[in-house]
Amino acid sequence: MAADGNVLDVAALLSAARRAYERSYGGEAQVAVCAPGRVNLIGEHTDYNQGLVLPMALPLVTVMVGSITSGQSCSVETIAESVDEPKRVDFDLPTESSPLTRGKPAWANYVKGVVQHYRGRPLPAFKAVLASSVPLGGGLSSSASLEVAVYTFLQQLCPDDGDEIAKAVACQQAEHTHAGVPCGIMDQFVSVLGKQGHALLIDCRSLEAVPVPLTDPSLVILITNSNVRHSLTGSEYSSRRKQCENAAAILGKSSLRDATMQDLEGSQESLDSVTYRRAEHVIKEIERTAQAAEALKRGAYKEFGKLMVESHNSLRDLYEVSCPELDVLVTAAMELDGVFGSRMTGGGFGGCTVTLLQADATERTIKHIQERYKGHPTFYITTPSEGARVLSLTGN
Ligand code: ADP
Ligand code: MG
Repeated sequence: MAADGNVLDVAALLSAARRAYERSYGGEAQVAVCAPGRVNLIGEHTDYNQGLVLPMALPLVTVMVGSITSGQSCSVETIAESVDEPKRVDFDLPTESSPLTRGKPAWANYVKGVVQHYRGRPLPAFKAVLASSVPLGGGLSSSASLEVAVYTFLQQLCPDDGDEIAKAVACQQAEHTHAGVPCGIMDQFVSVLGKQGHALLIDCRSLEAVPVPLTDPSLVILITNSNVRHSLTGSEYSSRRKQCENAAAILGKSSLRDATMQDLEGSQESLDSVTYRRAEHVIKEIERTAQAAEALKRGAYKEFGKLMVESHNSLRDLYEVSCPELDVLVTAAMELDGVFGSRMTGGGFGGCTVTLLQADATERTIKHIQERYKGHPTFYITTPSEGARVLSLTGN
């Protein structure tokens, strides 16, 4: 739940989506699904370097409700309050000769992208409503939860082969081609395959995932949304990605996953100092992520927390994707007893921090952060939740 007392339960979101459906289209929605946002505990900017990541699926979700309709024209409406474009979009099902392309409103590109990349055919036309408890643009991956919700919805209308990895990859493709964001696979992967009570150690090269139990009741995972987002986010993300590809090429590797610190130190003269720092972050962050997963399995929370702080410092100093607001949130959290670790999470330049702490330290930590942070933070006390799923429409 959100620390301000708002219960973000899926049932309430589902009811809101169903009511909106009835208002907009008349009749009852026949299908309902949801897909979660995520928080990454450690392993930042490593997924597109074929590295390791350790995210967990959140109780915050995107819900999609709808029904099959006749003809070729689809309608989708979002009830997300923060969308400041038209909230309804109509488009025709794609054909070989006229695929769905990017356009306005921007939010609909995520939907159209998934329809275009969907792996089951022939798709019927549909009308649907979207509702979300994942903050949009807050670094908790509302975009992947939207894509995976749309894909899961389409699976109910016209099943594909059920391959979950291929589903995550199709959603990632949608974000690349239709939203224009060259993201890695982490967000879509954990939104599809997240497991209740577990973080997922994902190897983004082999696409294998190991669930790591995370249910200790004496432990809390606190997310703090800075509620700032600097406009650099998009361009800086692509430039980091290019710098990493460049570094790997100079080191003669297909990705930085295959590089060691020895390789990097040995090639120091061939790399400019910025590229060197980017590669150093990635190589060490992959190692930290492996160590953190081991620490978590042993219940060694102090060790895990120390790795989180090292990750944050590296993102701030070597990868240069933090910002003063995120730095203050991390510093404030680390000033208190009972806090194991804290770091920025997600792409950076705003968004959220994630903090691992003793449950009995939660109240005072929130209070202290509120005192120290000049902005208006939002807090979420979260537990690792299930990946995308179908929701029942009976008994409500
Ligand atoms: P994040 O994934 O961290 O939340 P992004 O910038 O990647 O941030 O994605 C946010 C965008 O995704 C929004 O600006 C909007 O276009 C789209 N989006 C996400 N959820 C919804 C929703 N429920 N309704 C409409 N658009 C959404
Ligand atoms: Mg996103």
